[in-house]
Amino acid sequence: MKFVPLILKLDIAGNPTSWINYEEAIRLYTNDRVITALGTESFVFRGGINAVTQRRSMIEIGSILLTRGRVRAYACGNKFIPHLTNRALFRRDGHVCLYCGEQFRHANLTRDHIIPMSRGGTDNWENVVTACFRCNNQKGSKTPEEWGGRKLLAIPYAPNKAEYLFLQNRRIIADQQAFLITRFSKHSLLADRLN
Ligand SMILES: [Zn+2]
Repeated sequence: MKFVPLILKLDIAGNPTSWINYEEAIRLYTNDRVITALGTESFVFRGGINAVTQRRSMIEIGSILLTRGRVRAYACGNKFIPHLTNRALFRRDGHVCLYCGEQFRHANLTRDHIIPMSRGGTDNWENVVTACFRCNNQKGSKTPEEWGGRKLLAIPYAPNKAEYLFLQNRRIIADQQAFLITRFSKHSLLADRLN
C-alpha cells in the first residue's frame, strides 16, 4: 500500500485534537463519528466483498476529519500544556542551538535549562532551549547572565495545541499543514520557518 499519512482529527468545534492512523479513521467512519472531511486529500481503502451485493466495499478517508468528538477544556480557554520531549523541543527551535545559532542533527543536540535546575530552574517549555553540546558544556550550571551575558536567539515558549501537533508529526501533508498554521499563535516562529 502506498504511504498513507496520519489523519488529523478535529473535535466537533473544529479544534485539532490528535493524529490518528488510518485504521482508527476507518473506525470513526464506520461508527458514524465523522461529520465531514475538511482537507483536500483523501485515501481510498478497499474492504471485503459484501455477501448480499457481491460488491467490494470501499471507504474514502479524508486527511482532516471533523468528528463528533467532545470539545476539550483547553479549547475553551484553559491552557493546554504539551508534554515536553526533546524531539518536540528541537523541532520548536528548528534544530538550531539558541546560543551559537548553528544547526545540528538531533543526536548532537541537548536540552538546556536556561536557569539551571540546580539553581531552581524548572523543566518546562519556557525554561528550556535547544543547545549544542559545546554551548551546553560551556554554560554548565551558569545562567546566561553569568555566562558572559549571553543572549538567547529566540524566546522560548510553550507550543499551543496546533503547534504541538505540528511538532509531533514529521510527515504532515500540505493541506494538514495549511490547516494547522491557521491555528498557530502569533508569536510562533514555526510558520516563519515554513515560508
Ligand atoms: Zn551552540
